[in-house]
Formats: sequence, C-alpha cells, structure tokens
Amino acid sequence: MAKILDGTDPRALQYAAAELRAGRVVAFPTETVYGLGADALNERAVAAVFAIKNRPYFDPLIVHLPGREAAALYAADLDARALALMERFWPGPLTLVVKKRPLIPDLVTAGLDTVALRVPAHPVALALLQAAEVPIAAPSANPFGYVSPTTAFHVQELLGDAIGVILDGGPCPVGVESTVCVLTDDTPVILRPGGVAVEDIEAVIGRVVVPVTMRPDARSPGTLPRHYSPHVPVVLLAPGEPIPRPPAGERVGLLSFTPPLGVEGYTVVEVLSPTGDLRQAAANLFAALRRLDRAGLDRILVEPVPENGIGRAIMDRLRRAAARVSLPETAEKT
Ligand code: AMP
Ligand code: MG
Repeated sequence: MAKILDGTDPRALQYAAAELRAGRVVAFPTETVYGLGADALNERAVAAVFAIKNRPYFDPLIVHLPGREAAALYAADLDARALALMERFWPGPLTLVVKKRPLIPDLVTAGLDTVALRVPAHPVALALLQAAEVPIAAPSANPFGYVSPTTAFHVQELLGDAIGVILDGGPCPVGVESTVCVLTDDTPVILRPGGVAVEDIEAVIGRVVVPVTMRPDARSPGTLPRHYSPHVPVVLLAPGEPIPRPPAGERVGLLSFTPPLGVEGYTVVEVLSPTGDLRQAAANLFAALRRLDRAGLDRILVEPVPENGIGRAIMDRLRRAAARVSLPETAEKT
C-alpha cells in the first residue's frame, strides 16, 4: 500500500519532492486527473512510470512545469500562437505540443522531436513542482487503458502496491484530462479534446483542426479507439434515443447526464449533473464510471451529453469507453 499524504502539508510536499529528486515516482493531484510523476530529466525515473502503468513506449508523456517562464527551457521554439495560448490558459488544462530541446529524454517524447508541456492549475501540483525544482513527466495515475483516477483513493486502489506515496489534494475539479493542442503545423491540431474547450482555443488563435474521433493515432494514445475503459461493457445511446427498459434478468447500470424520467429495471443509476451542467458532469464522469464498473453489472448504458464546450471531451471519453475495438498489437503486448 502507498502512503497517502495530505498535499497541503508542507512536510508531505518536501518529502514527495525529495522522492522525485531521488528518481522515484510520486502520485499527485492536478485539476484534471491524478498524475503519476517522475523527474522528466531522469530517464530511469521516467522508465519506472511506463513500467508501473504498463504503458507502451510509443505513448509520450506530458511534462508539467511550475510556471509559464519554464517553457522556454524545454521548448526549442515558442511561436506567437504558443505564447498567446500560454498567456490565456496556463495554469490550466491545456497541453501544448511544441518542438523540444535536446535535454528532454527520448523516452519522455517517444522519440518524437516534440514535447508536450503544461502548467497545471492545482495548488498541490504547483507546490510540488516548485519544491521539486525539476519538471515532472506525468501521465494519469492508472493502468494503461483504464478509467483515469480523480481521487487519491482511486490511485491507491489502482496502483497502491506499485508506488510509495500519493499526495492527496481532494477530488479533481475538472475531472477529464487536458486538451492536447499540437502547434508544429501551420494549422494547430487538437489531438485530444479536454478541459479547455476547442471554442475557447479558437477564440485566441483562430481555426484549429479537430480530427474525426476514433481514428487511431500512435502519436497520442488518447486517440486510440479503446481507452478510458471500464471492464464491464459500455453501450452509448444515440443522441435523443429514449432510454430503453433493460431485459429482465440482466443487471444493467445507467449513466445519465441529467435525472432520467424512466429508470425501471435498472440496477444502479448514476446522474452526472442534476442541473445539466457540463462542467459538473465532467468532474463526476470517471468516479461514476468506476462505481458502475464495480457494481457487478452485465452492462452499462450511457446517455450522451451535448457536444459543446467540455461536453466534447466527455463524449470523446464515453465513445472510447464504449468502443469494442481492441488496442493495436503493440499496445496489447505490453
Ligand atoms: P496522459 O496519459 O493522459 O497524460 O496522456 C498524455 C497525452 O499527451 C497523450 O494523448 C499523449 O499521446 C499526448 N502527448 C504527449 N507528448 C506528445 C507529443 N510529443 N506529441 C503528441 N502528443 C503527445
Ligand atoms: Mg491517461
């Protein structure tokens, strides 16, 4: 079992920072999900993150920084668009993919000549970054492919046997991962919808490309068709499709956006937002999926949410949770 330490306690932060500097991994809260962090400049420490998560090496990690100023240390080139986005959204749930400097190890970037950078907007994450005085490479603190953790307890359940310390910062306020925006082409590309709405990014830098979802893209495992997935089969209803009555004898759970009208026959019902608020729905999404996954169900039925703002990220995760396609061979072997 890992030690769960209060992330607001300065002694806990110093301890976790020393662990990172010593090349060990530490789980910590961000505003999006909990991360499994290592010193981004220490290749062996980063290798431990891949091993613990069972993450394929073709899947690069996000490098977390304590402030905007640090970006120039690791990015070879920050153009006007990068600077404008950093100014508007950092600290916050936006990851920028830019040309890297050589000091970032190849393992972090899966051999790419780009690096994904982000300044998280969580007081515990920022305090840890400041205390550690190293950039932190961190994916979500869950086994590869499973639902991401949004509480310290989730991390303990998933990875507690493999790590030493989890900093507790309470439930993650955003609840879905960061938006990943690639800035190395003429037109920016959104590799993964997330906590910052695509509309808000376009308001700053103009049109961006949002590739059709479900297209596997080895550059970004968030784009693998099956990801963020519970073990129990997930079925996503079409927009406007009425909630069906489950067949007798089957244990079916319902994940609905707002309080549903008819829920007869359902074993469990999880409501993402009583008031129809997409931000609240995002914050509740992964915890609700995990509860349903552990309720001994045959199936989980999911009602779609409106696909605007952070709703795009929610629908992206729901589609991947519902996808029945298996991972590419390389991912399955790890
Ligand atoms: P996570 O496991 O949730 O931290 O996912 C990090 C996301 O950032 C993944 O979708 C990665 O593929 C993506 N990412 C990290 N580095 C890069 C990079 N250099 N180029 C493109 N995507 C990246
Ligand atoms: Mg992840």
